[in-house]
Amino acid sequence: MAVSITELYGSKTFNDSVMKERLPSPTYKALRAAIYEHKPLDPEVANVVASVMKRWAMEQGATHYTHWFQPLNGITSEKHDSFVSPVSGGAAIMEFKGKELIKGEPDASSFPNGGLRATCEARGYTSWDPTSYAFIKDDVLCIPTAFCSYTGEALDKKTPLLRSMDALSNQARRILKLFGKDVSYVRTTLGAEQEYFLVRKEDYKDRLDLILTGRTLLGASPSKGQELEEHYFGAIRTEVSEFMKDLDEELWKLGIPAKTKHNEVAPCQHELAPVFEMANVAVDHNMLTMELMKKVADRHGLVCLLHEKPFDGVNGSGKHNNWSMSTETENLLEPGDTPKENLQFLIFLAAIIKAVDEYADLLRATVASPGNDHRLGANEAPPAIISIFVGEELEAVIDSIASNSPYAAPTKLKMDLGVDVLPTFSKDSTDRNRTSPFAFTGNKFEFRMPGSSQNLSDADTVLNTAVAKSLHDYADELEGAEDFESAVIALIKRTIHDHRRVIFNGDGYTEAWEKEAERRGLPNAKYTPLAMKALLADKNIRLMEQFGVLTKTEMHSRYEVEIEHYSKVINIEALTMLEMLRKQIMPAVAGYSSEVASAAAAKQAVSDKLSVRSETRLLEKLSAGADELSDAIDALQEAVDKATAESDEPAKSYLYHDAVLPAMEKARKASDTLERICSEDYWPLPSYSRMLYYV
Ligand code: ADP
Ligand code: MG
Repeated sequence: MAVSITELYGSKTFNDSVMKERLPSPTYKALRAAIYEHKPLDPEVANVVASVMKRWAMEQGATHYTHWFQPLNGITSEKHDSFVSPVSGGAAIMEFKGKELIKGEPDASSFPNGGLRATCEARGYTSWDPTSYAFIKDDVLCIPTAFCSYTGEALDKKTPLLRSMDALSNQARRILKLFGKDVSYVRTTLGAEQEYFLVRKEDYKDRLDLILTGRTLLGASPSKGQELEEHYFGAIRTEVSEFMKDLDEELWKLGIPAKTKHNEVAPCQHELAPVFEMANVAVDHNMLTMELMKKVADRHGLVCLLHEKPFDGVNGSGKHNNWSMSTETENLLEPGDTPKENLQFLIFLAAIIKAVDEYADLLRATVASPGNDHRLGANEAPPAIISIFVGEELEAVIDSIASNSPYAAPTKLKMDLGVDVLPTFSKDSTDRNRTSPFAFTGNKFEFRMPGSSQNLSDADTVLNTAVAKSLHDYADELEGAEDFESAVIALIKRTIHDHRRVIFNGDGYTEAWEKEAERRGLPNAKYTPLAMKALLADKNIRLMEQFGVLTKTEMHSRYEVEIEHYSKVINIEALTMLEMLRKQIMPAVAGYSSEVASAAAAKQAVSDKLSVRSETRLLEKLSAGADELSDAIDALQEAVDKATAESDEPAKSYLYHDAVLPAMEKARKASDTLERICSEDYWPLPSYSRMLYYV
């Protein structure tokens, strides 16, 4: 590398040091206030920023700019406008005004909006999120923005996230004030660990299912699975290692703090973890990371699969959402050194326990997707039941508070809120339970349910808002308390008593837990259409409305978008499968059968003493298998037709789940059985062994 990493880092972003160097001092100060204190930006200031930004971007080779945003379809969107502005005499100048920086007007009707915008009232606008640095991508200046309808409804995933961060900040500040701390903002922090698969482009190109749906719809399991457990943290193959280096560099240029990379559990599966950042920035960066993973893989003859379950029988991919809250100087989930700090830690902890228990259904909905349905509850990721893992030590602390009994830690540290201190939680003692969907890992919570391809905004929006609600209720109660400390302790006690059911430290993968959870009354929505109903529940709408995060209309629109999305995805999968079965698999089986039959006939022509027993047996199997597959194809087509004809969207989504998916499974089984006995020369698809194992 010609330039050093420190020079490279953030070189394509309009970051704080660029701003400081290039903006006039008053402009810089005003912009910083907008960024750090969430103050509105003056149009004059915006003009200055825009012109400086444009000059900087042009020096980097940019000719266009775009408002970069995250509509409800879960990906990112951009529409490029050039800086070119014609002037009289056939010449042109390069122009970028403050109002273009602050506001854009993409056509809102072409993005999913769940009925929020009719085509005739299509106007929507994007507005600059100055807390996330502008950056250069493919010679385009990208300005991170939020996307709303003209009447102010959120049409994207960033707007509610920003609103929820403010809600959390406001309520957390009230609590901190009671502890004598006056802070200007409490940040939500997020570190998104991203899992992904890399396969070879030549294999990918031969799989219509991977191309159209991101996952293999057919494919017999390989002779070797992941049973040897040799991949996790194993040595990284050269071609993958080259990809990772290249990716790191691209990410660093954009100021994305890529930190850790390693092999994951499944063959060809890897993970990238960044250093945590403020949640909205971390989400922007995660979206960019996913985009760059695909781009960079392409340069290396590889394809990056971000689907939650690309290969049946092989672990799927998730995205761990490491989450905390912090002030400029303090992580609020860091257990403290003094009794008072412990009290503060415990109140934030209690707020989270209450929030997660009360809004478990809503949190579950944020991670529901057709892809993630294959993971959750499939013994490789947490179940669809939300529970909290706090670790033995902390659980003992909690129980001692709840029962008024003294706390005896394994390390003999006495817990008495008045006197002693909480033990420091080493990560080792807290991070052992990988089966928990929501685990305390020493100084943050790790929400492990999100799928690898998902935008984490949804999960964090709900988490922030639900915690804001707990803190709000606590603050209301504590602000009037006569004896603050005993009021806090009483409140923590009550919370533990009321919400103890959501804490579970055992093995979340077992059937016993599913039964136990049911006994405890914890929700267990197993698949997307069921889980999404939480978006319509009154208590959840009340929560979102109370903190101005989402209105009832916005919640309903999201429900519609998600339900329709679910049906569309399964429909595409089913049609792709039908096409592959009819045009590739059935002809392959017929071709091979005919070869076997000819071989047998040829043998018999030479001498009827030659045995054709093996050919006959094979032909019988091929023929029976083909019949079974043919029946399965018809049944699948019928199920798809029925689902397509249904006009009621919720009913339709259930048809896809209850009838189409099982029909797909049946067809797959028939096809996979045939794959096992069909000649490689005839089988048209690269096998699992070939895709997943190579030197
Ligand atoms: P672990 O070993 O428990 O997985 P790491 O230190 O590797 O923990 O961190 C995992 C992820 O959690 C990283 O992305 C890291 O930046 C993030 N993380 C660490 N501290 C915080 C925090 N306070 N808030 C949010 N994310 C955090
Ligand atoms: Mg992790």
